[in-house]
Amino acid sequence: MSYVIDIEDRPQLPIEGSDDTFPVRRIYCVGRNYRAHAIEMGADPDREPPFFFMKPADAIVRNGSTISYPSKTENFHYEIELVAAIGRGGRNIAEAGALDHVWGYGVGIDLTRRDVQQAAKDMGRPWDMGKGFDESAPCTALRPVGDVGHPDTGNGAIRLKVDGEVKQESTLDLHIWNVAETIAYLSEYVTLEPGDLIYMGTPDGVGPVRPGQTMEGHIDGVGDITIAVA
Ligand code: MN
Repeated sequence: MSYVIDIEDRPQLPIEGSDDTFPVRRIYCVGRNYRAHAIEMGADPDREPPFFFMKPADAIVRNGSTISYPSKTENFHYEIELVAAIGRGGRNIAEAGALDHVWGYGVGIDLTRRDVQQAAKDMGRPWDMGKGFDESAPCTALRPVGDVGHPDTGNGAIRLKVDGEVKQESTLDLHIWNVAETIAYLSEYVTLEPGDLIYMGTPDGVGPVRPGQTMEGHIDGVGDITIAVA
């Protein structure tokens, strides 16, 4: 028995310093997880429970790629984010043991059609076409926990530059909901499985990137990502 159509293999991310790869199952994203970013988006920055949206797994883009400027937007935004890669699944995971479910970390960019997202917000419609489009989820090679520890238990820097100019600059300790808390909350809604990625939310300073520009992201101890827009 075989498939009646040709399909791609499951999307994969490289592992830093290894020929092995990480098979990506689902991409979950945390909304408004930095106070200053919540304020810049016009939201209430008080600590309400985290909320989530998704991108398709094949929205993954590898580090060093040149992406196309997406259709249907005139306000294409970068959002630099820590990415947690789930190695062990579960549901209703307790916060105390949640970090044991993390295989490793990467540096991601949650690319956003901001105008499409805003229109969806205004009309009470889903965000999917503002967030979950082709090439919307760049991510570096992953580094295992044994090498990087759990970066948001410290105050490492997270930043993003466009054409060499710093646009976003913050620290990982300013996540409103840390990785352990996020895994605990998310696993109350869905069963997490090995291969799931969680984009942990972006600091303030989001803004547009235009054709011909290059984004360079950095997270202390995790890595650097470079993505160009054709
Ligand atoms: Mn985001």
